Amino acid sequence: MTQNALGVEFELRLSENPKSEQERTAVLANPGFGNHFTDHTAVVDYTVDSEGKGGWHDARIEPYGPIAMDPAAAVLHYGQEIFEGLKAYRHADGTVWTFRPEANAARFNRSARRLALPELPPEVFIESLRRLVAVDKAWVPTNEGESLYLRPFMIATEAFLGVRPAHEVSYRVIASPAGNYFGDIKPVSIWLSEKYARAGHGGTGEAKCGGNYAASLAAQLEAEEHGCKQVLFLDPTDDYAVEELGGMNIFFLFTDGTLVTPALNGNILHGVTRDSILQLATDRGLTVQERRITIAEWRQAVADGTLAEVFACGTAAVINPIGELKTAEGSLVTPELPEDSVAMSIREQLLGIQTGKVEDLHGWLTQL
Ligand code: PMP
Repeated sequence: MTQNALGVEFELRLSENPKSEQERTAVLANPGFGNHFTDHTAVVDYTVDSEGKGGWHDARIEPYGPIAMDPAAAVLHYGQEIFEGLKAYRHADGTVWTFRPEANAARFNRSARRLALPELPPEVFIESLRRLVAVDKAWVPTNEGESLYLRPFMIATEAFLGVRPAHEVSYRVIASPAGNYFGDIKPVSIWLSEKYARAGHGGTGEAKCGGNYAASLAAQLEAEEHGCKQVLFLDPTDDYAVEELGGMNIFFLFTDGTLVTPALNGNILHGVTRDSILQLATDRGLTVQERRITIAEWRQAVADGTLAEVFACGTAAVINPIGELKTAEGSLVTPELPEDSVAMSIREQLLGIQTGKVEDLHGWLTQL
């Protein structure tokens, strides 16, 4: 990397008016998702000097608050932005852990390369989480199934309207308490987007950049009109091969014990949950396949009774069974969720690992 050496020393600038214990307790009593933020934020800045040499500097924890930015900042015009999402879980002994942060750090750098943003050393990524959680530890929920959602992101802050990679960039992390995901898990209906694609070959599909999500919103509105909360996107250039949902990867379990998920073809996000499920399913002796799967194959498997389960996965909900794919031409209905559902069993195992109740055989946990 052509970056200056960065001592991973985060300067600590504590908030002078953190939320009162009363306010925090009120938030933690009903955290919901993404509405409330902790008292601090982690920041590291990046600048390219007059010789064209870039470097990270001024790593710090500072009070949470609005970002002062020039109206000409590149991110506001050309969307040069990436982000990540992972969770911190409080274990029964009070310690706080996160799940495979090195996978998020690697994906962040993959996204950075695609958006022509500077890569962030993975140890700085992980240290930024550790430092933020250290000062805002009281915000990590203690209730069963709750967590502190961590949102690292990188934005082009340079005030320049020319279209080129920005010379000034800011990396930040914010944190938000997240509610119970052990709640009632019911199979969901998803909407098949035929009018809109999420990604195109050579595009930014496998990068976690804001633009992908902006581009998915029109499809999301269409889904909501049809009573669905999530959208399934296809590759219209490849015989309607299944790609992923707006914010989750997808799996199919066949009655012969084969677990199939679309291959990482450049259009699909490299989900950390997806990868973990592939590992846990392999450990269980299931046949796992990362391959192309089309809507026609899905339809056929429903028709001939060889489709057992369909489920979506991601950090937010871990695993959620899909009961029905709604399309403009009718519905594809998944068989009723069986008592011994593989999806629900893997879900329990993953949650157990994350919350310290099931042995972490793969070394996936990192203490913060
Ligand atoms: N696909 C998309 C488009 C997503 O936004 C997410 C959530 N990050 C996922 C898949 C699932 O990824 P992960 O398991 O790493 O949360």
